[in-house]
Amino acid sequence: MKNDSALATTHSPLPGLGGNGHGARLTFYWGPMDCGKSTLALQMHHNHGRQGRRGLVLTRNDRSLGPKVTTRIGLAQDAIEVTDDLNLWDLAYGKVDYLICDEACFYTVDHIEQLADLVDRAGVDVFAFGLASDFRSRLFPASQRLFELADEVHRLQVEVLCWCGRRGHLNARIVDGEIVRAGEQVVIGDTASHAEVRYQVLCRHHHRSGTLD
Ligand SMILES: [Zn+2]
Repeated sequence: MKNDSALATTHSPLPGLGGNGHGARLTFYWGPMDCGKSTLALQMHHNHGRQGRRGLVLTRNDRSLGPKVTTRIGLAQDAIEVTDDLNLWDLAYGKVDYLICDEACFYTVDHIEQLADLVDRAGVDVFAFGLASDFRSRLFPASQRLFELADEVHRLQVEVLCWCGRRGHLNARIVDGEIVRAGEQVVIGDTASHAEVRYQVLCRHHHRSGTLD
């Protein structure tokens, strides 16, 4: 697994090179909550759009609860909500040069297969962003498939610290002030402290011990 700077791959394949043969790539950027994934996704969209490339922004379960990519530093962009029955091949084939796939951890495994087909058979560059693991520290199925299939995998370099100062990379789900370890894999919440279901990034030691401060 490569672990280069996330920004290195803004040097993406040029438009019109086409294909595999055409140099298209499937790239997965991963990191915990609050590490800037959505911000990088929108920056990537801006950079490629400025080169005259056609792209779409996709998301699922954004914190705004709408078909948007929003970021903690205030950027927002309308996006297509990826539902279970949305076929990404049909959506994008012949229409775009690249796809920005935010919150890809929440897509289905079938969606990831469709993305790989778009890269290999249609020359679409796919930039996927997401969490690696859920609140139990288990890989999301879509993230696992991305690790298996991606041409490049990048751990985002913005460090999110546990309260103890160690590097945090696991997402804890907290309900009524207590860490929970069982339940649905996807429950929408936020890292804001007032949220009913909230998430907190912890180091491995404190994720396992359940110590929140
Ligand atoms: Zn800690």
